[in-house]
Amino acid sequence: MKNAALFIVDVQNDFLPGGALAVPRGDEVIEPVNRLISSFDTVLASKDWHPPRTLHFDQWPVHCVRGTEGAAFPPGLNISRIQKIFLKGTGYADDGYSAFEATNEDLESYLRIRGIDRLVVTGLATDYCVKATAIAAARKGFEVYVVKEAVRAVNLQPDDEQKAFEEMQAAGVRIISENQIHRL
Ligand SMILES: [Zn+2]
Repeated sequence: MKNAALFIVDVQNDFLPGGALAVPRGDEVIEPVNRLISSFDTVLASKDWHPPRTLHFDQWPVHCVRGTEGAAFPPGLNISRIQKIFLKGTGYADDGYSAFEATNEDLESYLRIRGIDRLVVTGLATDYCVKATAIAAARKGFEVYVVKEAVRAVNLQPDDEQKAFEEMQAAGVRIISENQIHRL
């Protein structure tokens, strides 16, 4: 895809089944993400990258502490073409739901410098970091797509996933199927 980046949100061990903050069926995003990679020249990812103590853990179980196995990419994910990892939630009072809040590199500048104006968002979780990242991108004027097979939701409430899709669409994000990627 021209002028486009594949963006992989927080596909990390702690968000997969068996992890500290497991997203139900979160592991099912890995195969579609791996398939999508070949359609992109630019592949980027974010990681939740928390300090050992943060206000974020008042709200959530301890997860994705920087440098730990829980914060690592799972072995099944093809990371060979990830060109940059954006680290977020790195401060004591920093939730870092959106990858645009990354502190090691400014995602918006990174994309603009490279002439990337389309973002295809995948990963975990639909109702938190995927949603926050996709909506932030749309508000900044990027053309944003979320591939529904390549995302999974936490669903603290059973309809959170549906609500997240609706909120993203209201912000101008397009929810697409994997097989539509070649027509973009
Ligand atoms: Zn977190």
